[in-house]
Amino acid sequence: MRRLILSDIHANIDALEAVLAHAQSRYDEIYCLGDVVGYGACPHEVVDWSRRFVKKILRGNHDRAVAGIENLDWFNPVARAAVLWTREQLSKDELRWLAALPEGPLLLDDCELVHGSPLDEDEYLVCSSDVAGLDYALRRPMCFFGHTHLQGGWEWRRRQPVPLSMAGLPYSETVVDLAPGSLYLINPGSVGQPRDRDPRAAYCIWDTEQRTLAFHRVEYPLERAQLRIRNAGLDSWLADRLVLGR
Ligand code: ZN
Repeated sequence: MRRLILSDIHANIDALEAVLAHAQSRYDEIYCLGDVVGYGACPHEVVDWSRRFVKKILRGNHDRAVAGIENLDWFNPVARAAVLWTREQLSKDELRWLAALPEGPLLLDDCELVHGSPLDEDEYLVCSSDVAGLDYALRRPMCFFGHTHLQGGWEWRRRQPVPLSMAGLPYSETVVDLAPGSLYLINPGSVGQPRDRDPRAAYCIWDTEQRTLAFHRVEYPLERAQLRIRNAGLDSWLADRLVLGR
């Protein structure tokens, strides 16, 4: 089985379409790690696509906020305004779908899906000290997470978390051979708002038969996404940051 793993699409339909075109015919099913909406200007399109094509999905903090089941005090003013704008764009049915997205971890036969961390859906796993000891919390050899918008991950060998690529960020076009007996905590990166200084949309493909994990980055019509954000009246920083990759 070849699984397309996506996270943090954030209502960026231009980035999503580029990822799907790039990954075309190289996957069998799609998993999504949450934050389908928030920040970007096409929440309806991305929700509609997610409902139709994503096999396994769980909620992110922005999905919760837009659905009205999150205290907005935790959001900065720009993110909060985007949440309120997004809520206006979606139908009652779409908001109900967002509200019903399951909280992670989503425990599947051969992997675990979470938004933030296996212990807390809102926790950010950024550096190796953040994940030290987390191997005890993993209930499957593969765990996929998002939330940080940073592509990469860790492999546990003999209880030590080792960053997956020593080549440093970005992990563009890196194929990792999965070792039997190792544990993996993997972030596919963000489709719609990468924050690792590489503005290209990020995703990964997990091939369970070949036992490989391929990280990818894809250019997309960024100016179009920026224009949509400006035309929607959303904060211009949300457009500016796309080109900076942060
Ligand atoms: Zn996010």
